[in-house]
Amino acid sequence: MRQFQFGYKGRDSLMRELRKISQWSKTKIISNMVFQVFTTTPDEKAIDDIMKCIRKELPDALVFGCSTNGQIINGELSSRTIAITCTVFEFPTTRVKILQYDLSTENEVEVTDSVLRALDDNPWVSAVELLVTIRGMSMTGFSDRLRAAKKEIAIYGGGAFNGDMNEDTACVFSSEAGYAEHGVIFVLMGGEDLHVNTTYITGWKPLGRPLEITKVKGSVLYEIENRPAYETYYRYLNIENDDDFFSNTLEFPFIFEHNGIDLLRAPTASLPDGSLMMTSDMYEGDLARISYGDPETILREVAKNIRQLNDFAPEVIKLYSCGARRTFWGADVSRETSPFQLIAPTSGFFTSGEFLRTNEHLNQHNVTLVVGALREGNIPGQREQLSLDDTGIKFSGRVSMVNRLATFIQAATEELEKANQQLGMAAISDGMTRLFNRMEIQRRITETVKQEEQAKSAGKDGNPISLIMMDVDDFKKVNDTYGHAEGDQVLISLANMLNRVIGSDAAGCVAGRWGGEEFMVLMPGYTKDAAAKIAEIMRQEFSGIKFELCGNQSMSLGVTEYIPGEDADVLCMRVDDALYKAKKSGKNCVITG
Ligand code: GH3
Ligand code: MG
Ligand code: MG
Repeated sequence: MRQFQFGYKGRDSLMRELRKISQWSKTKIISNMVFQVFTTTPDEKAIDDIMKCIRKELPDALVFGCSTNGQIINGELSSRTIAITCTVFEFPTTRVKILQYDLSTENEVEVTDSVLRALDDNPWVSAVELLVTIRGMSMTGFSDRLRAAKKEIAIYGGGAFNGDMNEDTACVFSSEAGYAEHGVIFVLMGGEDLHVNTTYITGWKPLGRPLEITKVKGSVLYEIENRPAYETYYRYLNIENDDDFFSNTLEFPFIFEHNGIDLLRAPTASLPDGSLMMTSDMYEGDLARISYGDPETILREVAKNIRQLNDFAPEVIKLYSCGARRTFWGADVSRETSPFQLIAPTSGFFTSGEFLRTNEHLNQHNVTLVVGALREGNIPGQREQLSLDDTGIKFSGRVSMVNRLATFIQAATEELEKANQQLGMAAISDGMTRLFNRMEIQRRITETVKQEEQAKSAGKDGNPISLIMMDVDDFKKVNDTYGHAEGDQVLISLANMLNRVIGSDAAGCVAGRWGGEEFMVLMPGYTKDAAAKIAEIMRQEFSGIKFELCGNQSMSLGVTEYIPGEDADVLCMRVDDALYKAKKSGKNCVITG
């Protein structure tokens, strides 16, 4: 496999390049020749003209391409408006096929159904390169439906864009179906000798605590933790809602895990209601963190990936890099793309969204660098591992200040989160027995009763709820005779026993300390007969424990079941009555009331 890359410098120069390729190819065995054309202006006439030139000189070649926010040629941002690559596949087993759909006449269901059918009809396909004019369209349904493709098939690609980020017009085109301003292209590739390796690189690192996405519609993020989304940027980063909003937030996009993959989303604008227009869809319930990017940290991530990619021995590398990365790096943008050129001819473009299939899910990335690497045939010979120096990336050797500060914030946040969790636990548990405290068990009883009432009024079948209340018999004597420490030991052992019995015989039940030597067990889903059986097990287990000083002890238990419509307090009073009866009838027994 080989690749020619060149900038477009007019028709004559193009014809010369094409003739060179044509001459070269006459002496070679070639299975497929595929041109990719990148252009920062969606100019139909210019593109048609280029396609005509290629058809004239190399009539069997396939052509596809799209408009971009800049092209990467030989690993560098090209200064040309149009750039062209020609990939030559040499193995006879390798096959390539282009599908193109018009998104102004076909919807996502029709398109994806047709693609999935094509993948079934062409079982040789192992990789799909995807180019699409996103233009504000939600790609979630599209991506979800392509999940049905055979899991071995790699899918990667990018969203067409415009050289001017504020311009909406974008296009895709191919030798199959020509120019389209609303279109999608799938380049199917495969064959037993074609090997594909894909990866994605962000380099951005999470910062601060996870924030729940509470309201989102497509790519409009309304609320974070039930507050207008914009407030997050203002509160944590003091970013004003002005003309610089996009460039200021770009260093701090949201990072969140979706389908097990880290996705980034940057806000492109904030609206008067405090919502944020994001670079693409987000999803309610996901936990997002603000993340930060700094050049040194990003380059380290790039270097790590290049060294891994080198082991694959790629012959051609395609980069789909976010237009936002171009803005982020400014004049230095080639620092993170040129190192790829050291291991294989590298081309690609700056996108309006990057696509990559990982673990069967086709994800839409933003602010990310998606890498597709191809090789025909086996890895040639023994391959040396690439050293960090060989990546050509120059590191200052010093960790940047923002990296240090971010590490500091992250560590401090984790400590606070842990402390918060511990405080949260302390607030609901009893210090000595580690069971829930009175407030928490009471809250849970009330909550369970409330949920049961709601479920019933929604027409669902009723579920029983039972309570067991217990009290140690003649406990005062233990304290008076053997001291408080021995009494404490009895209570701790009782609590441990309750956890044990619940763990093995009463799943879904919870125990709490109701008062001094009184305990309560909440049993959702249990009738009072079922609960009484558990209560009897608890009684026997407790009476079987032999304490060091006070020997065997006993307890009395009351059991009752929730009567639909009654108040949680009344339920608790009735179980207390049952316990009182157990005491009255001689202690060390279970009474059901
Ligand atoms: P009955 O069989 O009727 O329940 O008799 P009793 O002695 O168990 O009941 P009473 O209510 O008279 O005494 C309960 C005792 O429990 C009184 C109190 O000092 C003791 N107690 C309450 N909380 C604790 C505790 O945390 N540790 C210890 N060691 N004793 C406690
Ligand atoms: Mg007692
Ligand atoms: Mg008592």
